[in-house]
Amino acid sequence: MSNTTFPPLVAGNWKMNGTLASLDEAKALMARLDGKTPACDVMLCPPFTLLFKMGETLADSTIAMGAQDCHPKETGAHTGDIAAEMIAETGATACIVGHSERRTDHGESNELVKAKAEAAHRAGLVAIICIGETIDQREAGRTLQVNTEQLKGSLPEGANAANTIIAYEPVWAIGTGHTPTTDQVAEVHGHIRAELGGLMGAEEAAKVRILYGGSVKPANAQELMAVENVNGALVGGASLKADDFFGIIEAYL
Ligand code: PEP
Repeated sequence: MSNTTFPPLVAGNWKMNGTLASLDEAKALMARLDGKTPACDVMLCPPFTLLFKMGETLADSTIAMGAQDCHPKETGAHTGDIAAEMIAETGATACIVGHSERRTDHGESNELVKAKAEAAHRAGLVAIICIGETIDQREAGRTLQVNTEQLKGSLPEGANAANTIIAYEPVWAIGTGHTPTTDQVAEVHGHIRAELGGLMGAEEAAKVRILYGGSVKPANAQELMAVENVNGALVGGASLKADDFFGIIEAYL
């Protein structure tokens, strides 16, 4: 772990999973955390439809809430989209942008991701900007180059350690059960930290949380979270069940 001002973050990305009944998992997580003080922040990012109810559910807990995407604009004729300002009204404090599933499924470019991160900042939300290479890019030896391009292309003006979190998520590790070696994680996280230094100055960059995401589970969390420059995790599948997610948070207990 590097020397950051902000505590590490373990964030759960529920993706397109979760109905009202799933709020029971949030309640179960609250119960598991009761009386415990992990050395990390904990966040749940449910689908839009659950944000208000989730906000009510988590109101008396230490668990923060984030959204999974936002539109760059504040209002307008954008059927089916959700503005960052609307998200902020739900009690969410963060918004994931540029997840690889959106980059792939919706053809989101770095430019669009940057506009979304700007929107998150405009609404007072922390932008969790996701970057990561595909397996073809890794095998072609382009991992660092691809992550640099995505980072530089997606990071808005004014990004700092308080309003921005980077999530390194190798696309080939998401939902596959495959994870990079700790050396590979260390290499990319160190590279991201160095690139951030060039973009916002080394002092600020040292404080930015860089999450690792991709098949994190209780069995590998401790090892991955101990890697230098890893300041927490973005967790998909294993965040859906309170017991599994708590097993990951336990890396910080
Ligand atoms: C994710 O989609 O952000 C993710 C990390 O998924 P999983 O943990 O399921 O690999």
